Amino acid sequence: MTDLRELRKAIREAMEYAVPDGYLDKAEDLLDIYHDDKIALDLLHEFYLSLPDAREAWVREIMVLARHHGIFLLSAMVGGREGYLYLVSSEGIEFQGSLADGFLAQELLDFFQFESEEAFRRLCAAPAELHSYEPLQVDEDICPACHALAGEHHELGCPVEVCPWCGGQLIHCDCRFEQLGLDAISNETELLRFEDLLEERGRIPYSREQRPSFADEGTGVILD
Ligand SMILES: [Zn+2]
Ligand SMILES: [Zn+2]
Repeated sequence: MTDLRELRKAIREAMEYAVPDGYLDKAEDLLDIYHDDKIALDLLHEFYLSLPDAREAWVREIMVLARHHGIFLLSAMVGGREGYLYLVSSEGIEFQGSLADGFLAQELLDFFQFESEEAFRRLCAAPAELHSYEPLQVDEDICPACHALAGEHHELGCPVEVCPWCGGQLIHCDCRFEQLGLDAISNETELLRFEDLLEERGRIPYSREQRPSFADEGTGVILD
């Protein structure tokens, strides 16, 4: 199901049966947050259609346990510490059991680079420390990090800005030090000097090709 509108409609229909009385509005709030996010919508769709414990429930929040090469390990939170794990990518979705069980196949522990089963269990036992899954911005003409429009310069320091000297990520390459002849940028004057050098060289404005697209990173594991 790739049409997001169809997907949202199917989720809404399933919610009618799944969400306990009086909570439908709240359940729909989450649907609004992830209105255009295929990953989150796939998760909600799977949750509401298959209801892991075959009882009424609603998803309050979606938390991220791990993310690697465009594959997310997410938890659909249905209560304070109660959640269900899903492996989700643009390729598909796979249910992974309850958060409380704190279990993940060794292959996946390795893939997400968890130190040990124990480290994963500890993470599952402290859901309050997990981060909420951020909806992906779908407007490709806006830089997802600094919100520059296509054709505009990024804000200096934006991680999406491409370096005009080496073509790498401007905040990560060493060109700023090489250009300034310094080991580090330690004050405002040096930063302004770098900005001048950057303008002189010609900054590369935002364009949609620069979007960090997790879908293009290639899949590291095959989902059944
Ligand atoms: Zn930017
Ligand atoms: Zn560079």
